[in-house]
Amino acid sequence: MGSESEVYDLIIIGGGPAGLTAGLYAMRAVLKTILVEKATPGGQVAITKGVENYPGFEEISGLELCDKFLHHAQSYGLELIRDEVISIQPGVDLHTVSLESGKVLRGHAVIIATGGTPRKLGVPGEDELLGRGVSYCAKCDGFFFQDRVVSVVGGGDTALEDALYLTKLASKVYLIHRRNSFRASKILQKRVAESGIELVLDSVITRINDQDNAVNSISVKNIVTGEQRIIETEGVFIFVGLFPNNRIVPPGIAMDGAGYAITDYSCATNIPGIFIAGDLKQKYAKQIVVAAGEGCTAALAAAHYVDEKKSQME
Ligand code: NAP
Repeated sequence: MGSESEVYDLIIIGGGPAGLTAGLYAMRAVLKTILVEKATPGGQVAITKGVENYPGFEEISGLELCDKFLHHAQSYGLELIRDEVISIQPGVDLHTVSLESGKVLRGHAVIIATGGTPRKLGVPGEDELLGRGVSYCAKCDGFFFQDRVVSVVGGGDTALEDALYLTKLASKVYLIHRRNSFRASKILQKRVAESGIELVLDSVITRINDQDNAVNSISVKNIVTGEQRIIETEGVFIFVGLFPNNRIVPPGIAMDGAGYAITDYSCATNIPGIFIAGDLKQKYAKQIVVAAGEGCTAALAAAHYVDEKKSQME
């Protein structure tokens, strides 16, 4: 197997802001680098409508920002393949990355930047009605709800941002949140307060109901008063946070109780040569600029690690 696999200085897994920034810095550090991405590069940002807090861009679509990251990294010749990583086997000198296609890569250093995927509510009807009124992406599916009543669940930046987006399409937007205050930024809270969105606070969805296999209402319970009600709605947009994509993190890497990786200040894990950047890494603020910054840090630290490793091997 070893002789058939290709050897890289650095293998980057994940093509979101962290991975693509790592690719840019790795190429500028003249590392032989490959980036593996299972889908279209961009990660969660690609499905974000408008980004208003990436420095230098007062407003830019998530897709356009991702394109810029991608083109910038590729302008330095970054090799990118579309494939899924099945496993990472840490080694003493080289780490082995096995891909779904059967291909095997070996690298002195690996940066895992696989981010997160939308968390589910876990209520009856959610899985069954996915694509039939249940959605995790307002930008992708909002178009189908023009002049219809929709409900958004969550109290973070994504929920408020996407609820505001949906007001431009839907005839009415409910925002259902389990507490009576939001964790979203104050500027979004102010916009929501002025938007005509109907707030349903201290409340949780207990069931998503359908007629003829399409969402027609939600059962909602006020967790303070115990009151139950049915809200007629054709769309349910769920934005209750991210779940870290940690499936391929090798055993032995320190993780917190929520499944996020713990690294040092240089994004290094406790396995030499394996770095973690972006939303998979435990952090205070999951922001694009933070993910990009961590991609930079991880690549520079990986470059230093590879140089040291190679000089020891000479
Ligand atoms: P988030 O900040 O983790 O918020 C998740 C929301 O879902 C919280 O309000 C939480 O309620 C609620 N929630 C969690 N589990 C729930 C459940 N089982 N049932 C009902 N509600 C539940 O997630 P996010 O909004 O996706 O944002 C993720 C990260 O990306 C954040 O750091 C955010 O700042 C960042 N982001 C930034 C931007 C931007 O700056 N443009 C845009 C989008 C996202 P509680 O508040 O009660 O815990």
